[in-house]
Amino acid sequence: PALRIDVVSIFPDYLSALDLSLIGKAREDGLLDVRVHDLRDFTHDRHRTVDDTPYGGGAGMVMKPQPWAEALDHVVGQADPGATSRRPHLVVPGPGGAPFTQAMARELAQEEWLAFACGRYEGIDERVYEHARESLGLEVSVVSLGDYVLNGGEVAVLAMVEAIGRLVPGVIGNAESLVEESHEDGLLEYPLYTKPREWNGREVPPILLSGNHAAIAAWRHEQRLARTAARRPDLLHASHGDGDVDITAAT
Ligand code: SAM
Repeated sequence: PALRIDVVSIFPDYLSALDLSLIGKAREDGLLDVRVHDLRDFTHDRHRTVDDTPYGGGAGMVMKPQPWAEALDHVVGQADPGATSRRPHLVVPGPGGAPFTQAMARELAQEEWLAFACGRYEGIDERVYEHARESLGLEVSVVSLGDYVLNGGEVAVLAMVEAIGRLVPGVIGNAESLVEESHEDGLLEYPLYTKPREWNGREVPPILLSGNHAAIAAWRHEQRLARTAARRPDLLHASHGDGDVDITAAT
C-alpha cells in the first residue's frame, strides 16, 4: 500500500512542488498518496481567520485552536477503509522540535500514514497538540529542520517528505544508491567523478580508472573519513548504532 501523507497548510500551493520529480512520479505510480488541505477551509468567518493575538502579550500572532482541531478531525475522519492504520502519526515542524535526521526519516518511512501540520506566525495554540494526543489519540512529534527560523512549516515539510519519500521502496529505482549515501552510516559521501576523464586540464583520480575494486573501495572509505573529519567532526564522535566510527583510520 502507498504511504499516505496529509499536509495541512494555509498555503496549499506551496506544496505543489510535491507534484514534481521523483516524488511526483511516486505519487503517479501509487507509491505515495499525498493529500494537501487548506486550513482556511476549516474557518467559519467571512475573513477565514486562522490567527489571533497571544495571551500573555508579546509580538506576533498565534494560530487559533478551532480551525486546526477541525482540520485534524477531518483528516483523521478520512481514514481509508482498507488500511490497517486508523490514525496518522502527526508531525509538526517547529524550530523547537527534535532535529530531523536520516534515522528519523527511516523511521517515518516505515509508517503507513503521516500527517503534517504547517505552522505560520509564532506557531500553533498549545491546546491543539493536546487535542491531537488526547482527543484523537495521535502520536505527535515536533520536528525541527535545523537551528534556524523559517517563516512557516511548508519548506520543512517539503524537505521531510522528500527525505522520507525517497526511502519508500520503489521510489528510487536503484535501491543500492540509497545505502551508499551521506548520513546512512554516519560518514559523508566520497567525491564523485564522471566523464570525461580529463576536463579543463583536471584529471580524474587515477585509482578510479584502475579497475581494482578493492583499492577503489579503500580509497573511497579514506576519502569519506577525511571529508567527515574536515567538514563534520561531530559525526565522528557520534555513535552510529553498529559501533563508533574509528577516527584513527582517517589519518
Ligand atoms: N515562535 C516560534 C519559535 O520561536 O520557536 C517560531 C515560529 S516560525 C516564525 C513559524 C513556523 O515556521 C513554525 O510554526 C514552524 O511551522 C516553521 N518553522 C520555523 N523554523 C523551523 C525549523 N527550523 N524547522 C521546522 N519548522 C520551522
